[in-house]
Amino acid sequence: MSEVRTRAPVFAGNWKMHKGPRDAVNFFARFTEAYAAREDRTVIFFPPAVSIEAAARALRQRTDVRLGVQNIHWEPTGAFTGETGGPMAFQAGAHYALAGHSERRHGMGEDDATVARKTRAALDAGISPVVCVGETLDERRAGQLERVLSRQLGTVLDALAGDPRLARVLLAYEPVWAIGTGVVATPDDAAAAHGFLRALLREKLGVHAGGLPILYGGSVKPDNAADLLNAKDVDGLLVGGASLDPDGFANIASVDTVRAPGDL
Ligand code: PEP
Repeated sequence: MSEVRTRAPVFAGNWKMHKGPRDAVNFFARFTEAYAAREDRTVIFFPPAVSIEAAARALRQRTDVRLGVQNIHWEPTGAFTGETGGPMAFQAGAHYALAGHSERRHGMGEDDATVARKTRAALDAGISPVVCVGETLDERRAGQLERVLSRQLGTVLDALAGDPRLARVLLAYEPVWAIGTGVVATPDDAAAAHGFLRALLREKLGVHAGGLPILYGGSVKPDNAADLLNAKDVDGLLVGGASLDPDGFANIASVDTVRAPGDL
């Protein structure tokens, strides 16, 4: 099926539990020197929640660089000690929210239903969710890649069926075995999983599926970013460890796509 390519590449940096407010200010002082604004792409950072407001202040002259929150609660406010509500993350400067990062699915016990609730909570707060999906090494070895991706993405799409705000969702394919391990998926591995996710989106959303970007994440570094970004159906990169270095991430965010328009 041919569709006109409308998805500008997205480069996202997930700082995980690194960089407090002062560190964030220092980072952006260097990053904004190393990376010049470009209109053909979207750049997003996910600092820890406590650093979002300082990051937003540091970036007030650079509206091309956007901010997100790594996690939100499914309720907007309430008696949930230690949690962050979507509206307060938005107030601090977050326009994106990760939902279902593997470190929350596998480290904090978040299931598919919880990820779907958080996805909806982000949309309710005016925040674009970045829904992360991906299989463990055992699941991959057992031939369950497609089953796992269908279940993870299907739960979110079913929960939001018919909701026009689905157009604001981004997806990230992050194989769990490649996150923070230094083991990177090959461009062919990424293309196969992304192609499967794209087909699933088409099946569930029809013509609206074309606009949703699918990012690859898992041990992306400056030296493998171009090959991964140019794999078929890869619309951007979600970068953990390598986003902590301002110069390295400036290099990654400057990678160009070489696919022709319409080459999906
Ligand atoms: C991530 O945190 O989403 C990630 C992909 O981490 P890393 O790049 O370090 O593998």
